[in-house]
Amino acid sequence: MDEIREKACAKLNISLDVLGKRPDGYHDMVMIMQTVSLTDEVSIERTDGQGIRASTNLEYIPGDERNLAVRAAGVFFRESGIAEEGLRISIRKKIPVGAGLAGGSADAGAVLRALNRLYGMPLDREGLVRAAEQVGSDVAFCTLGGTMLASGRGEILTRLPSMPECWYGIIMPHFSISTPELFRKLDGKKIRCHPDTQGLVQAVENGDLSGVCRRMYNVFEDVDDRRMRTVAEIKGRLMDCGAMGALMTGTGSAVFAVFESQKTAETAVSEMKGDHRLAAVCGNVGPLA
Ligand code: ATP
Repeated sequence: MDEIREKACAKLNISLDVLGKRPDGYHDMVMIMQTVSLTDEVSIERTDGQGIRASTNLEYIPGDERNLAVRAAGVFFRESGIAEEGLRISIRKKIPVGAGLAGGSADAGAVLRALNRLYGMPLDREGLVRAAEQVGSDVAFCTLGGTMLASGRGEILTRLPSMPECWYGIIMPHFSISTPELFRKLDGKKIRCHPDTQGLVQAVENGDLSGVCRRMYNVFEDVDDRRMRTVAEIKGRLMDCGAMGALMTGTGSAVFAVFESQKTAETAVSEMKGDHRLAAVCGNVGPLA
């Protein structure tokens, strides 16, 4: 088979905590993350020519080494010991960029899974994680998927039982937020509140959806940035529409809300549709590798 397709799933942060900045410049984080059914579609073809290139339906996303999907393919060949071949990676992007939904990392994870399948599974789970870590902090999670407790830069992963059944309404306003910019703002302040990660893990393990929703927390929402007012407004509207909880994912700007029923999620999202860049309903996606 010379062409292979794979879905790249967006991630949501059920919680996000930053413990401090490390000497290497990265931050020590503790997060609970979940893959969801908002996806990019990745397809990979072998080509006769040399080189690995990516193209997407968004012209401003680079097709060279700056694209995480291209970087992932290069790392795959190195880690597996297979001689590098020419590849054409086509990505249909539905995960918005700069949203905190880890779209680029999701594409990289999909490329690692797809190439591993295409070449007869030369990498086991550990090999996939080793490759993923070389591409970016969230890529290991995006490769394995499901529900995970992540620490370190985000690459130390412990699998949790699946989130209790629920639906998510995802709303992204008409602005994106740069991840390095928000980290800089966080570094300049004292973090006053931290999520109760242990309580959250317990709630996930007990299948206690309202316990999860009560404890969802993201330290970036407390950063001094006027865009957080819009984030808070969106959360408020989602709660007014019957959500059990709402949170900004990653460094934003996307916000998600948890609903017990698909119908309530769809009604909420359709009410908010016109005013935002993205308004979508999706569900949990379990382990991918
Ligand atoms: P995160 O949640 O990991 O902070 P994000 O959702 O805020 O991510 P992304 O959508 O992953 O951000 O992309 C941010 C940057 O990564 C953009 O500047 C984009 O040019 C670059 N990038 C590299 N590869 C990709 C890709 N395959 N898809 C989208 N963006 C990519």
